[in-house]
Amino acid sequence: MQTLSYSSTSAFKNCRKKYQYNYIENLKQIDEPVYFSIGSAFHIALAEHYDSKTEPKCIEKIVEYFIDHKTENISDIDKIDKWHEAYQLTRELFKRYIREYQDEPFEVIDTELKFTVPIINPETNCKSKNFNFFGIIDMLVKENGLYWIVEHKTTTSISNQYKKALTLDTQCIAYIEALERFLNIKIQGVIYNVILKSLPVKPKLLKNGKLSMAKNQNTTLELYLEAITENKLEIEDYSEHLEWISDNRKEYFYREYLTFPSETIQEWRAELWDLQKNIREAELKNQYYKNTNNCIGFGVCQYFDICIALDKQCVIDSSYKVADNDIKKIERVK
Ligand code: SF4
Repeated sequence: MQTLSYSSTSAFKNCRKKYQYNYIENLKQIDEPVYFSIGSAFHIALAEHYDSKTEPKCIEKIVEYFIDHKTENISDIDKIDKWHEAYQLTRELFKRYIREYQDEPFEVIDTELKFTVPIINPETNCKSKNFNFFGIIDMLVKENGLYWIVEHKTTTSISNQYKKALTLDTQCIAYIEALERFLNIKIQGVIYNVILKSLPVKPKLLKNGKLSMAKNQNTTLELYLEAITENKLEIEDYSEHLEWISDNRKEYFYREYLTFPSETIQEWRAELWDLQKNIREAELKNQYYKNTNNCIGFGVCQYFDICIALDKQCVIDSSYKVADNDIKKIERVK
């Protein structure tokens, strides 16, 4: 029995060739760039925060993450600077987060909750003979007697469009469906816990001694008022701008409780059943089509060099390695 994850099914939908290289052949670039992300570090710190509630331990986790993801190449100054910036930003964001949410309305039941469930045919209720479905949930909580999944998200913008797009998040629908079966409980929905990857700063002091009134500044009403006092300026001169800041407060943290209709959950069940059939068929026929619309976009696909090469095996042998079992995305269930 093999295990599919939400990421592997998404990869299959986006480009079957990518799915084959990543999840069947387990290929990884040998010179994979050292990758660090504020989102990953923040997730690790949040898991610790909701487990232990001890700030120093959470900060330790952030430090550990960034040490583990530090480039060895000390001549890569640009990368070292970015690494340092990301590390500082994650620490500061985390400190702001715990100040913002000192009292939570929910009881934490579990963090980083792993599940594996059978994939079920929605028409016959029979289990797939080939695949189980596996995933890890950020957090399960109970509020007013109801269970909710919590999904932590870090983003560069909390726009109205971003908020609307949350309603289309199939991963959470998949996790609700699976967790209800795994724990045999009713999951009410998802709490999106969104964190803006940005810190507010005091307004810029111009050469003429006045504060900038540019509307694209990353500031808050409180910081603007502080800057007026610090620079011994007259509040009346800024009253219009202060009113504008107050009316257009930027969100740095955002939470949304979303429920999904049962039809949406049913749709996902049918989709997952279909996907596992298609994946099995691709496996049996060894047919993994390329989707060349996905090669470049959000960065270049990590298998681009293989796909464009005439001698693919030569590129694989020289630039890729087979990943260890413990980082395989598809777990072979013994
Ligand atoms: S380079 Fe393009 S075709 Fe090749 S695996 Fe990546 S997305 Fe698919």
